[in-house]
Amino acid sequence: MNNTKDIILTGDRTTGQLHLGHYVGSLRSRVQLQNEYKTYILLADVQALTTHYDQPALIADSVHQVTLDYLAVGIDPDKATLFIQSMIPEIAELTVIFSMFVTVNSLRHNPTIKTEARDRGYTDLYYGFLGYPVSQAADIAFCKATLVPAGEDQIPHIETARKLVRRFNELYAPVLPEPRMLTGDRLGGLDGIGKMSKSMGNSISLHASPEDVHAKLTKAKTDPARIHRTDPGHPDICPVFAYHQLFRKEHAEEIHASCSQGSIGCRDCKRIAGHAINDLLAPFRERRNAYEQRRDDVKEILVEGTRQARQVARETMLEVREAMGIRYF
Ligand code: ATP
Ligand code: MG
Repeated sequence: MNNTKDIILTGDRTTGQLHLGHYVGSLRSRVQLQNEYKTYILLADVQALTTHYDQPALIADSVHQVTLDYLAVGIDPDKATLFIQSMIPEIAELTVIFSMFVTVNSLRHNPTIKTEARDRGYTDLYYGFLGYPVSQAADIAFCKATLVPAGEDQIPHIETARKLVRRFNELYAPVLPEPRMLTGDRLGGLDGIGKMSKSMGNSISLHASPEDVHAKLTKAKTDPARIHRTDPGHPDICPVFAYHQLFRKEHAEEIHASCSQGSIGCRDCKRIAGHAINDLLAPFRERRNAYEQRRDDVKEILVEGTRQARQVARETMLEVREAMGIRYF
């Protein structure tokens, strides 16, 4: 982390609006890191197709929504390069090259792929879905990224990226750096089952209204063993307590004690968590509203970022071809 030459690549699938999980998992650290390092932020619309190929309109609209979310949380387009994955054909090219030296079994055994396939009810796996970690390796390698801030579900994918880059360098020439990961916190979903996720309907959007935040929390699952208000609770297994820890750490100890003693009810506890979340979101809402009035400027940010990323991609692909001896003319 003290290597000033680090290059950062992170991104999100454009399958809907970003939520609090994205904030604690990676947006929060991106806002810090953009001040110190060259930062690329990818709107992963091709990766979105791996599960949403039948909803292209949703994907295209989400490119705009996710960009607004980035700007709202404080990503600064003068510091970070925001770009659209499908507009960089060199990423697809590098994906094909990487796919030559990754086995189907290693992808099948990837624990995140397994969990996601199970959660989505997939029995047979689409080729694109199974291979998305390979395309992610190309996202990282095209801009020679060395540091990837992401949620813990990404650990196996970064490992795949490291292996692919190493293999490439061994086979041809040492052109691509091995990326490291910077792991953020994981935020559980309101359903108390998996992680908070855009596609699972268990999330609080980053631009939810204050009323929406409270309404969503009202329905959130809590400690299932706690039936009456005076029953002692088990905060360590309660999804709402995790929100206290992440969004108002200084009150978490008190909440933990009151819940364990049964002196605070779930309704009051959720109300306090809602206030903490709303305090975090208030400046984001304000910035988002301001950018919503400037649609053309937002588009220009993407045009310029994509132009810069494309330039870097072209240069890397020339080196890749050179290393492989397939730069014919
Ligand atoms: P989808 O349901 O479409 O897969 P998602 O909500 O899982 O969407 P992604 O775009 O797949 O979001 O993830 C983007 C980044 O955000 C990744 O780095 C991922 O680890 C992180 N992230 C997503 N959800 C969470 C969460 N609940 N807690 C922490 N990090 C998260
Ligand atoms: Mg995901």
